[in-house]
Amino acid sequence: MLTEKTIEQLGKSLNGEVIKPGDSNYDESRKIWNAMIDCKPALIVQVTSADDVSSAIKFARTNKLDITIRGAGHNIAGNSICDGGLMIDFSAMKKVRVDKEKKIALVEPGATLKEFDGEAQKYGLATPVGINSTTGIAGLTLGGGFGWLTRKHGFTIDNLLSAEVVTVDGKKLKASEKENADLFWAIRGGGGNFGVVTQFEFKLYPVGPEILAGLLVFPFKQAKSILKQYRDFIQTTPPEFNVWVVMRKAPPLPFLPEEVHGSEVVVLAICVVTDFDKGEKLIEKMRGFGEPVGEHIGRMPYVNWQQAFDPLLTPGARNYWKSHNFVELKDGAMDSMIEYAGKLPSPQCEIFIGYLEGKSNSVPSNAMAYPSRDLKYILNVHGRWDDAKQDKECINWARDFFNATSKFASAGAYVNFMTEEENERVAKAYGPNYDRLVQIKKKYDPNNLLRHNQNIKPA
Ligand SMILES: Cc1cc2nc3c(=O)[nH]c(=O)nc-3n(C[C@H](O)[C@H](O)[C@H](O)COP(=O)(O)OP(=O)(O)OC[C@H]3O[C@@H](n4cnc5c(N)ncnc54)[C@H](O)[C@@H]3O)c2cc1C
Repeated sequence: MLTEKTIEQLGKSLNGEVIKPGDSNYDESRKIWNAMIDCKPALIVQVTSADDVSSAIKFARTNKLDITIRGAGHNIAGNSICDGGLMIDFSAMKKVRVDKEKKIALVEPGATLKEFDGEAQKYGLATPVGINSTTGIAGLTLGGGFGWLTRKHGFTIDNLLSAEVVTVDGKKLKASEKENADLFWAIRGGGGNFGVVTQFEFKLYPVGPEILAGLLVFPFKQAKSILKQYRDFIQTTPPEFNVWVVMRKAPPLPFLPEEVHGSEVVVLAICVVTDFDKGEKLIEKMRGFGEPVGEHIGRMPYVNWQQAFDPLLTPGARNYWKSHNFVELKDGAMDSMIEYAGKLPSPQCEIFIGYLEGKSNSVPSNAMAYPSRDLKYILNVHGRWDDAKQDKECINWARDFFNATSKFASAGAYVNFMTEEENERVAKAYGPNYDRLVQIKKKYDPNNLLRHNQNIKPA
């Protein structure tokens, strides 16, 4: 039982704030992105430094509280929070410092992608991160991290130079190729299993500030032909050229005719990082895939494109996502995509395919915890809706689609897109790297205190 006195003592040992049930900011502070998760932690500790993290871990251990870690709370499985536990909340640690000469950034774990991209772009720099700007850099990085720059520059973890980590015994360690190399290997894909990261150091590249990007939209009845042409075409394009396919009901976008709004469409989302003249020519070829119902493509600041999908991915909706890796996009997989995109249970549900072939495929699969270096396409099914009454229908739709496409999937899985009950998929996700991860877990967290994650068990 926690007493007022012990909580007060915790407060005194920290610079950050301790929030408990009944406090005016408790309900706001326990909200996370996926509205399906409604947990009530015993305490929320808004840390401001590695020392605060150390004190919070010590307190949780002494008082036998489960520990959870919140970067920006975007994890679909909701692992950043649990009932009755102590949540280490990084929302007060968001500093991003860029060294423009060395092209590196030091980023605190509470930063969102918007905050990171915004600061790096002041100097015309960036590193690969995700495509929704409210996502947290911490969870994204620790699970892998991919986005529009991945074909050219790899995953986020391929550009992680070092991290500062507080381990479960309260020690502050640096993890890099030179220091605690086993820990550095494990955190690049192994999630929050090994310690609490208090700072990331990333390599940056010149990007933008303008890129060429936008949407090319086709009617759903042309889906099979568009998908086939996309598959054959995208493999011939350079890594600066990114096209992802989204199948969903058309939102009321001003560049689409009104009669299309609310009906199923095939969207090619395009991002050309450099060489715009060549990009324009390639886009022109894609216009010929069918008869587009609308397009909105042009040069724009990279940071704007990084926020372009935010309106479709606002917090507060109910979400259930599933994902597969593919080395090839087979006709059968396309047939399933079209079948399930033809019976979307809510206007917010969507199926997307990201094409990631490029830099990441040249990294050996045992170079770090994340192993899926043969991956070319990532398929994601976004089950998303507002009304709890639709839970069963939407979850079943996502599961059925996932099962129907399983036979086309390649090895591995992206832990950042796993839902809560997929824990048995963890060993499969890490494949040949799993045994080493178990050994490293035994060394850094032998009692599995950090288990609210896609858990690598120490035994
Ligand atoms: C709308 C949306 C869009 C997305 N788009 C992409 C995308 O384009 N590309 C992509 O790769 N992924 C994407 N994702 C997945 C995303 O990478 C994961 O949801 C990720 O977990 C989010 O990180 P977070 O810090 O916000 O999560 P949180 O929920 O805060 O944290 C998730 C987990 O990460 C661990 N963790 C967080 N902070 C720390 C820390 N400081 N130290 C140790 N462990 C920590 C903990 O185990 C925690 O449970 C998207 C997710 C959403 C919801």
